[in-house]
Amino acid sequence: MAYRINTRLRDELVQYGGLDANKCFNCGNCTAACGLSERETIFPRRDIRSMQLGLEGRIEESLDPWLCYYCGDCSDTCPREAEPGELMMSMRRWLTARYDWTGISKLLYTNHIAEYAILVVLAALVMALFFVPGFGFPLLAEHPEAREHVMLQFFAPKHAVHYGDLIMAAVLSFFLATNVLRMWSKTMKSSGAGPGHYLGQLHELVIHAATQKRWAACDGERARFHWLRHVLLVTGYGTMLLLVVVFLTWFQIEDTAWHWTSIPGYYATLVLLGVTITMITDRMAKKDQIHKYSHPSDWLFLALLLGTSVTGILLHAFRLADLPMLTYCMYMLHLAIAVPMLLVEVPFGKWSHLAYRPMAMYLNKVKEAAARDRVGATSTAAAK
Ligand code: SF4
Ligand code: SF4
Repeated sequence: MAYRINTRLRDELVQYGGLDANKCFNCGNCTAACGLSERETIFPRRDIRSMQLGLEGRIEESLDPWLCYYCGDCSDTCPREAEPGELMMSMRRWLTARYDWTGISKLLYTNHIAEYAILVVLAALVMALFFVPGFGFPLLAEHPEAREHVMLQFFAPKHAVHYGDLIMAAVLSFFLATNVLRMWSKTMKSSGAGPGHYLGQLHELVIHAATQKRWAACDGERARFHWLRHVLLVTGYGTMLLLVVVFLTWFQIEDTAWHWTSIPGYYATLVLLGVTITMITDRMAKKDQIHKYSHPSDWLFLALLLGTSVTGILLHAFRLADLPMLTYCMYMLHLAIAVPMLLVEVPFGKWSHLAYRPMAMYLNKVKEAAARDRVGATSTAAAK
């Protein structure tokens, strides 16, 4: 297949955190060292070669960058210190921007001032909602008793917040789903896969989305630890998303009472806080290959997670201590961090890999099944 050459591709990838791909002299050590590279998916050398040659179409239709879990074995064995693991990471960011039809992902990854500005504007809009008549501070003004004791029903009524949560979930699902569709159209156009192949491999999507089990198969020294930590993190924010999007009316306690329904909230908060802190310290220590290079989006993501966890804990403590104004202000601050984080990071930023990676595992299996059938059909025809 003929591919258009983009002579600026290497420079473009540098904006996404890529290093100097020209250091690579194509020895193939990295591919030999990679425990996840297989006969059908020879990475990372092939993708780095595409990068050097400016073959953006070949990278765009490749699922390989998503099959890499960044264990770092390839970087450890590279004689040229070309950091192939980090090059694969930069390709994932670049692909995220390519899948996104709105252009927001590209803006977030390549213009950090714009990224901060978007988050600040969204946070300001969330805070402004608490000054809309019938909600937040205007509602509080109508209920002086809610200034004596915590009464969240007179500041952020459950039904209104729940309605907002559902709208937010619908918006981010729409953008993520349409971007996933674009990923599918870019990567599968010449696969020859039919409906039977897609249906037959559907279990792979569910398994990889739930377990990310391929990461555990990485040979890297601490790959298993990173995999376990990631699984824990997913259970943490999965629980939190369920609580605030689906079960909010059950989860949000209006007064100072303690209720057992807080227990899943404690679990999610402890996991988010604990894992986020260890991720921050790991990035600062740069001990593992995966943490050696940090793109600004990595730090921002962790800062948002930390902010969401800490404000959630303070909100809970202020409510139990019956400190009404502190509870209300912390509620507003908590949403002003959590909502922009979800709206930006889930469909356009770092969290989008939660959809792209299992989708890539699934589509890769679909491609393999289609290829097997093609070979089978050719052999049968030859035998006749
Ligand atoms: S990235 Fe390093 S190990 Fe891999 S092919 Fe290039 S020079 Fe060799
Ligand atoms: S980082 Fe690990 S999984 Fe990724 S290409 Fe290198 S060796 Fe393979």
